[in-house]
Formats: sequence, C-alpha cells, structure tokens
Amino acid sequence: MSNDPWAEGGYGFETLAIHAGQDPDPTTGAVVVPIYQTSTYVQSEVGEHKGYEYSRSGNPTRTALETCLAALEGGRTGLAFASGLAAEDCLLRTVTGPGGHVVIPDDAYGGTYRLFAKVLERWGVAHTPVALSDRDAVRAAMRPETSLIWCETPTNPLLGIADIAGLAAIAHEGGARLVVDNTFASPYLQQPLALGADVVVHSTTKYLGGHSDVVGGALVTGDVALGEELAYHQNAMGGVPGAFDSWLVMRGAKTLGVRMDRHCANAARVVDLLLGHSGVAQVLYPGLPDHPGHEVAAKQMSGFGGMVSFRLAGGEAAALAVCKATRVFTLGESLGGVESLIEHPGRMTHASVAGSQLEVPSDLVRLSVGIETADDLLADLDRALAVTP
Ligand SMILES: *Cc1c(COP(=O)(O)O)cnc(C)c1O
Repeated sequence: MSNDPWAEGGYGFETLAIHAGQDPDPTTGAVVVPIYQTSTYVQSEVGEHKGYEYSRSGNPTRTALETCLAALEGGRTGLAFASGLAAEDCLLRTVTGPGGHVVIPDDAYGGTYRLFAKVLERWGVAHTPVALSDRDAVRAAMRPETSLIWCETPTNPLLGIADIAGLAAIAHEGGARLVVDNTFASPYLQQPLALGADVVVHSTTKYLGGHSDVVGGALVTGDVALGEELAYHQNAMGGVPGAFDSWLVMRGAKTLGVRMDRHCANAARVVDLLLGHSGVAQVLYPGLPDHPGHEVAAKQMSGFGGMVSFRLAGGEAAALAVCKATRVFTLGESLGGVESLIEHPGRMTHASVAGSQLEVPSDLVRLSVGIETADDLLADLDRALAVTP
C-alpha cells in the first residue's frame, strides 16, 4: 500500500509529516490535500474508475492520512479508523478469535481493558493482565494459543515502561505477535516497528491530532500480508473516519515534532516543580533517573513525553482538591492536545477498571502537559497544590 515516494526517499520525520501522502492535488494544484466530502465516485463504464468506488472502502483524504501515518511509523500499511478503539477492535478481530488468548498490560488504558474484559471475553478470547516490565511474568503468561502480546509504553496512567524489543522476542518465540499502543509516545518519540513490534496502534485523538478537536484511531504494520488482511477487515467492519476527521488528524500530524519537543520540555519543568513540593508523595515520569523503567525508556524513546502522574501525600481528598483548583490545566479526560489537562484517573478515565486487577491508586493525579507558556503552568500547579488538605 505504501509505495509513497516520500517514504522511500530517506527524508526526516518532520518532512514526512508534512509531505508523505500529501503531494499537491493533481487536478487543481491545491497544496493542501482537499477534504473529499463524497460517499461515491463516478465510473466511466461499469468497473472503470480512478481507484475509488465508495468512501467506506477508500477516500482520497483518508488515503493521504493513511500514507502519512505509515511513513511516520516506518511501516508499509497505514489504516485510519473512527476512533482508537475502532482500530483496536478491527485488529483484535483480525488476529484473534474464539479459543484465543492475549497477554495485556496490568495497567492498560481503561477502554482497552474494557474491550478485552467485556466484549472480546464474550467472543471467547481470554486475556491475562501482566506487569509488562516483568519479562519472566510475561513469559509465564504465554500459552500455546496466545496470539498476541498487547503492549503500552509508557502506560496510562502509571507511566510504566516496557521493553519493546524484549517483548517482541518473547512474542515471536511463542509464535505470537507484539502490538504496541504508541499513543502516549507518538511516532516522534518512539518507533515500535523498528524495535520488532508487528503492529502499532494509535488513538490519533491524542498527540497525532494534537488539538483536542477530533476522535480517531490508526493501525500501522510493516507486514504487507497482515496489512492486507487488516484493510479487508477495515472495510468489512466499517469503522472508518470521515474525510474531515481524516483531514484534521493529518493537519495535526504536520506539527507533531515541534509540539512534542515543547510537550517534553514543559513536562520536565512540571516534574521539577512537583519533586520539590511537600504535598506530593511521588512523581511518576520515565525521565526521572530513579524511575524503574528509566534506562529502557532512555534506550527506546528520544524524549520522555508530555504525560506526568503524581500521588498526593494528602490522599484522595488532596487529589480531588488539586483537580478542582487548577485553572490553566483544564479538568478533563483525554490527553495529547496543545492545552494542558488534569484528571483523577480513579474516578474518571479509569473508573471502568475499579475493583479489577487494573485499579489505580485513589491519590493519583494525571497531567497531560500542554504547550502553553511553562511559567504559567508552574504557577497554576503551585497555586493549586497550596490549597490541598
Ligand atoms: C485514548 C486512548 C485509546 C482509545 O482511543 P479512542 O480514540 O478514545 O477510542 C487507546 N489507547 C490509549 C493509550 C489512549 O490514550
């Protein structure tokens, strides 16, 4: 699918983000890929067309995005979806089935866990949650019928780190595939396919879109045969994004590199502030030398990202108070946008895993550090922490 000359041309990441799949429109010369807001396409005679028949099967705006995403992850096939979970569902129903088994992180994204526990379980796909940083535990969880290891790194919301190359080796030894949800790092900071992963999943809602104005998902693989199977299922299951949503993600992706640099720099400043505050019991950030995954993160990521979690000395009451007291940090779910967000995972994003093995501490607060002026972010947090009980 990806025979895009940009991807073969030895260009750097930012050049691919701006140009891959996005040559000027051949009909009009438009520099920006148009939003092809159409469901169907003319045929000059039965079966004769320009490559597009119906927009569930293919749409030129979506094709441009898919080509760009494949280039950014260094894959052969990119596929865009209406949401991250639609991408996950398509992948899982392509590579697993009744009687199958998957190994998942013990702090998986809540919605991913719900998909495994409440939907796929009923279809006969079993799952085992494991701490992916513990390779022996992962090996022990593998079964003959295990078709994949599902990896998130950094994880959400505890920012644990898993060794992608190590997990790829374990998966492949067991005849399984390694899937990496690369939403938190983005392809700018981490390239799982180059480290041995078979498929990369994204919620493009987050850093790739980057402006909190669109919900979307993606799959990228370097395996052409698997790519064809996934594309078949994408069309057969139908969870595709519309042209405008595809365009928004593509537009966001153009600035991913410069945004991620600023997300990382601002996050480092925020971490420094939190470390020095008596109301903060623990700061979870892979950039910290005492983070258990720091060495692996330093090896497989080119920056530590914009997500920071921390635990309050004053327990849940303090965590809820901080969430209520910030002003520049907006209280809300989601992440990866230009604006800073704050949330309480236990009662918000991770409420669906309460009571399970994936339950998160109630004194935990998660920040998605945006790209506002760093001093404003620090002042805002400092003021909010001052009011904690
Ligand atoms: C948001 C998110 C998802 C789900 O994506 P949607 O676009 O909300 O469907 C999956 N994985 C991670 C890590 C996420 O943050």
